[in-house]
Amino acid sequence: MQCRVCDSTNLELAIDLGSQPWCNHFLKPEEVGQEPYYPLRVLYCHDCATVQLDYTVKKEVMFGDHTYLSGVTKSLSQHFKNVAEEIDETFFKETVAKSVLDIGSNDGTQLKHFQALGYDVLGVESSIKTAKIANDAGVPTLNEFFNLEIVKKLNRQFHVINAAGVFFHLEELHSVTEGIKAALREDGVFVVQFLYMKRIVENLAFDQIYHEHLLYYNLKTIEVLLNRHGLSMFDAYLSPIHGGSIIGFVTHQGTKEPSDRLTAMREAEVTEKSNEFTTYLEFAKRIEQMKKENLAYLSQAKAAGKSIWGFGAPVKGNTLLNYFGIGTQYLDYLVEKNELRRGLYSPGMHIPLVIEGELDKLPDIYYVLAWNFKREILANNQALIDQGVEFYFPVNPPDA
Ligand SMILES: [Zn+2]
Repeated sequence: MQCRVCDSTNLELAIDLGSQPWCNHFLKPEEVGQEPYYPLRVLYCHDCATVQLDYTVKKEVMFGDHTYLSGVTKSLSQHFKNVAEEIDETFFKETVAKSVLDIGSNDGTQLKHFQALGYDVLGVESSIKTAKIANDAGVPTLNEFFNLEIVKKLNRQFHVINAAGVFFHLEELHSVTEGIKAALREDGVFVVQFLYMKRIVENLAFDQIYHEHLLYYNLKTIEVLLNRHGLSMFDAYLSPIHGGSIIGFVTHQGTKEPSDRLTAMREAEVTEKSNEFTTYLEFAKRIEQMKKENLAYLSQAKAAGKSIWGFGAPVKGNTLLNYFGIGTQYLDYLVEKNELRRGLYSPGMHIPLVIEGELDKLPDIYYVLAWNFKREILANNQALIDQGVEFYFPVNPPDA
């Protein structure tokens, strides 16, 4: 295999999460037990330090029909609003006739915030259902996979291009990056938002590793990709979203100096050895330890006669459940807000999904799979906590 970023063949296995079903397809009753399994292995590139999966589930399988809607959670919607306001305030406050392109625009939640600020907006979204939701809500959205071909057909450039959490999905990594370069005005800003691998390692958030995420970036490694296509990052900061994401500001290479805070973060990656192979091997060992601790906790709770339900059914939860081997021997249900998932089962472990508030009983313990919304979850469920329901966070970063 060749490195997805730099083409090197000098790759080595760092983390092996075994064979897993595709985690973003919750199963209909008739599909239970029929789901295919794929290897989930993370390789390290000894030349550019990018960590990446070696096995690609075809994108048509992965993104034709996903049921994740970004409008669903309050803190995410607030984050999208903040991002739009920050970009406008910092770069385009005085600009007239400004425009924004959102790649992987989902249900249009991000673009609605730009519309409110007077931007001409365009979304590109690969899911048919989700693109329709956006169009119906008045957010112009192309139902396509974004790449250079689409940009050539569009034949226009934008002040802002936004890509939140898509750079790790992309099979056509280089065509997409070239498309961004071509669609970005000379004075334009490309806002790239991605899970920060350095934080994933620090937080033991290994459940962020799943088939949809082909690549896991640090600043050093995303810059290898950007530079290869004539783009460079000039500013970035760490946001708590999704348990630790980088919001990076990118433009055409050679036009802007890096900010002090970006320089400081780059230096931290060097001093903390964030891009070294041994760091990932150590990470793999810590995941094993975490598995032992979690299974011990759940076994003890069951032995004490306690009922346990999963809280949330995020895609990443399936990596954790499958790798730890947590099924209905521990969790009776996964409780979820997204009504599109009513009556479905989790892939691999086959735990039934129920919609929050629709059961007339409570568990003794909620095992929280949507751990990145810790603050929101604890605030919304104070009444249950007062009644004695315990909330257990298998992944528990200090700033979640
Ligand atoms: Zn490489």
